[in-house]
Amino acid sequence: MLFVLSGPSGTGKTTLCRMLTQACPKEFWFSVSHTTRPRRHMEEDGKDYHFASEEAFQDMIAKDAFLEWAKVYDAYYGTALFPVEEALERGYNVLLDIDVQGGLAVKKGRDDVTLIFIVPPSLAALEARLKGRGRDEPDALRKRLQAVMGEIERAFAAYEYIVVNDELGKALQDVLAITQSAPLKLNKRKQAVLEGFRQEWDQKQPRLK
Ligand code: ADP
Ligand code: 5GP
Repeated sequence: MLFVLSGPSGTGKTTLCRMLTQACPKEFWFSVSHTTRPRRHMEEDGKDYHFASEEAFQDMIAKDAFLEWAKVYDAYYGTALFPVEEALERGYNVLLDIDVQGGLAVKKGRDDVTLIFIVPPSLAALEARLKGRGRDEPDALRKRLQAVMGEIERAFAAYEYIVVNDELGKALQDVLAITQSAPLKLNKRKQAVLEGFRQEWDQKQPRLK
């Protein structure tokens, strides 16, 4: 199954994804996105992102190599299709840390996608986290904070779950509970259950009468 974690920058998506993959490495696989934005201090190519030139990114678009891609702030971001399909085939729950437009694009026409929106306990807490992380330049920080309200409103209309990341352990439990119950809502599972009853009904109906 695919799990999209979206939310304002600094809300704790990376932290939650890392905790899930570290706690259950056989169950969760994190999709490392491609981006054209410059690498930040402390970020590792291949671990945080696959850092790509704009030319290389456009080449991947032309080759249909993305499950989804979008322009976020001033750069391109995209989820490579092949590694995600491979991880799904190997039975992993795939975690995508992508924005709302990306989440909606992935969900379109698919039954195996769950959209989770992570929010901070308050805007003040978000600002403190972003500043505490100390990763973004003042201009990038301003852009991220300005985008917050619009993003929250769009997600509230379209996302299936909202998780408040106040106490980290509780937020992790909430995300785990969502991932554990998600297979129960799959159409193919519901159909398999229904089919079982139909077959039994067809065989036993005469005796029930
Ligand atoms: P995102 O990936 O959503 O941009 P991060 O996972 O990088 O956000 O988290 C931003 C900062 O907030 C990091 O310094 C992280 O350690 C901190 N953080 C994450 N969750 C919590 C929490 N529940 N309480 C306090 N700080 C948190
Ligand atoms: P940042 O530059 O702060 O790492 O990420 C900026 C935003 O881009 C975040 O909202 C993040 O979720 C989003 N993002 C990261 N990777 C992808 C991706 O592959 N696709 C889309 N649509 N958004 C992404």
